[in-house]
Amino acid sequence: MTVRVRLAPSPTGTLHIGTARTALFNWLFARKKNGKFLIRIEDTDKERSKSEFTDNILKGLQWLGLDWDQSPILQSKRIKDHRLAIKYLLDKGLAYRCYTTEEELEKMREKQISNNQAPRYDNRHRDLSPEQELKFINEKRSSVIRFRIDDYESIQWNDLVRGKMNWLGKDLGGDMVISRRAESNEIGDPLYNLVVVVDDSYMEITHVIRGEDHIANTAKQLLLYKALNLNPPIFAHTPLILNTDGKKLSKRDGVTSIEDFKAMGYTPEALANYMTLLGWSPEEENRERFTINEASNFFSLDRVNKAGAKFNWEKLNWLNSQVIHEWEPEKLFKEIEPIMLKKGLKLPEKEWCVDLAELIGPSLTLINDCIDETKVFFEEPHLEKDAIDQLSLEGAKECLKLLLEELSKSPWDGLNKNDAKQLINNVVKNRNIKKGLIMKSLRAALLGSLTGPDLLSSWALLARIKKDQIRIKRVL
Ligand code: GLU
Repeated sequence: MTVRVRLAPSPTGTLHIGTARTALFNWLFARKKNGKFLIRIEDTDKERSKSEFTDNILKGLQWLGLDWDQSPILQSKRIKDHRLAIKYLLDKGLAYRCYTTEEELEKMREKQISNNQAPRYDNRHRDLSPEQELKFINEKRSSVIRFRIDDYESIQWNDLVRGKMNWLGKDLGGDMVISRRAESNEIGDPLYNLVVVVDDSYMEITHVIRGEDHIANTAKQLLLYKALNLNPPIFAHTPLILNTDGKKLSKRDGVTSIEDFKAMGYTPEALANYMTLLGWSPEEENRERFTINEASNFFSLDRVNKAGAKFNWEKLNWLNSQVIHEWEPEKLFKEIEPIMLKKGLKLPEKEWCVDLAELIGPSLTLINDCIDETKVFFEEPHLEKDAIDQLSLEGAKECLKLLLEELSKSPWDGLNKNDAKQLINNVVKNRNIKKGLIMKSLRAALLGSLTGPDLLSSWALLARIKKDQIRIKRVL
């Protein structure tokens, strides 16, 4: 049997981290099993579905490094099959028209709540006589179509994450609506549980891997598989992603969309790596850093946790910094260049920029940190307190003057790190100056603070764009 899995996103919003994680687990499972990873766009909610969301979802998946094995299927194109299935259920007496009005449903719900009962449809139109039905039709009532759910039907499946699952029909809220309200002789728009069953079966999906919020849907869908004489897939329900307070991660938590993570400066490699660890861990203990291609060799559903997966920003940040620190300076510059240009920075020649990238690379956690980390090379820095204190020490300014003198002796065009070192050593040796004093004072003058990137490399970079001497002179 070839494994066939799918992601079935609804294009009603941008790619959410929960959907992306579901996609990733499906992709990892498919790749591990040499199977197929498919996409079905569930665009049947005409009002809320937008093609720009479909684009956003597909681009986001690609950005994370996921690929799929066939062109995505649009659910809306398959409505004929969905209607045929509903018609089949109606013909077999497994589904029926329900004429209960919205008002009546509301009253029913209120009454149940006031009696401390869980709201459910009370199946009141399940067995209407032809006369009663005619009466409703003559009243020009619209109808939904409901699928019969026997209260005592037991529904069981072996979930690949959660083990044996047992449900009873009566826990599913009464007979289930499978098509939207329509004129009494029509079939309205088919609804989620029905279309998923018809489409998963059409796509020959062997394993449905999705979030645990779909567990009750699985119970309903299994009843539909049986009624439609279709073979159900195997199910695996993955844990929810929780925020740092242990509640379901939601829009209120701010960053939930993949494009938000991208905009903040997370790399696709780190984010995909991190999402793989959200609710799953590899057999090899303490192995946290890997590519998704590597993970596809050792991914298994039996190592997916049942408990919710708490979002851990520290771990994500650590992974992101690891990825960035592994990049060659050229690659890092390619990543930071658009961000710096967008910020309006005038970038000097490429070689200089690549050297700058190499210098600041180790201090980046997010790609976007490049703005703060390189600022000092583009704007004359404001002097921090530690720099002011340093420059007011006895002899501090003196030694900077000596350094300028030394600089003026030779042309030092294209001063590099070694030249910088040499110059300082000359002053230290010939003028009997403490190395610490000159180094710290120079740092204060050039970078405006006693902390920051490597001093000699920074000096060489500033010298190449002729900004070093100006900065030394301004503090004297
Ligand atoms: N469109 C559904 C969702 O986005 C699909 C759920 C499923 O995988 O069946 O939640």
